[in-house]
Amino acid sequence: MDELKNTKIWKRKKNHNTIVKCKHVNFGEGYFTVIAGPCAIENSEMALITAKKVEKLGASVFRSSLFKPRTSPYSFQGIGKDGVKILNNIKAETNLLLESEVLSKEHLDILIEHIDIVRIGSRNMDNYELLKTVGKLNKPIILKRGMSSTLKEFLLAAEYIMDSGNEQIILCERGIRSFDNYTRNTLDILAVPSLKELTHLPVIVDPSHSTGKSSLVPSAAKAALAAGADGLIIEVHPNPKNALSDGEQSIDFNTFEILMGELQKLSTVFDKSTIFKSVLSY
Ligand code: PEP
Ligand code: MN
Repeated sequence: MDELKNTKIWKRKKNHNTIVKCKHVNFGEGYFTVIAGPCAIENSEMALITAKKVEKLGASVFRSSLFKPRTSPYSFQGIGKDGVKILNNIKAETNLLLESEVLSKEHLDILIEHIDIVRIGSRNMDNYELLKTVGKLNKPIILKRGMSSTLKEFLLAAEYIMDSGNEQIILCERGIRSFDNYTRNTLDILAVPSLKELTHLPVIVDPSHSTGKSSLVPSAAKAALAAGADGLIIEVHPNPKNALSDGEQSIDFNTFEILMGELQKLSTVFDKSTIFKSVLSY
């Protein structure tokens, strides 16, 4: 890890951990911030129903994906730029912040005025030109770990963003590829405390893509809180069986409600007593 010692993201570069602030929402020490919403926005109605529900249950940021990276070119690719008006409607109807994935500079140009947080997905973690581009923005970036990336590669990808001028970076552990395929990926739970030893940046966990199974999402989410994560990004759908993408790993409203209650209770055991504070404080 010697190569990291001269980086800007290195833990001892600062004498405090970074809290990424975005309007009324904080990511970092003392906070446990929940981002929730469908894998992809499918239509206006399901997006608004989901947004209102997850907000009521304590999420402070809405997953608002319009562009989807799919393994098959014949799978649903997201509703694309037509979805921008849906994002604006959710903004008008809720206090949720919006976050969305960009796969290219073109997507960024379409979304930038309409979202609060930009997500770089696993498949683009080492797209260095895109990292440099988002490094010039004045908006927080969620950087997801590449599915076959070491922690060092992950951190050096974050360094590209920081070195381009953007210090508002949230790291996201989303599972890595391993030999077992019972789960979609293997949640590297120790990535959370390891990253916290190495960097001052906030770390969140994606229990949805790391498991691929809705039945395992609550366990992964609770393990993330216990391991010291600063939040979650979690797929919630009003009717997972009919979802156009990732229905198997999306949890329904009822499961999300139970999980949020459990997280609330767990947070009092760990030093995350300000869980959901960012939602309650406005
Ligand atoms: C997502 O969060 O929508 C996604 C595609 O996840 P990942 O980039 O981790 O595969
Ligand atoms: Mn998904």
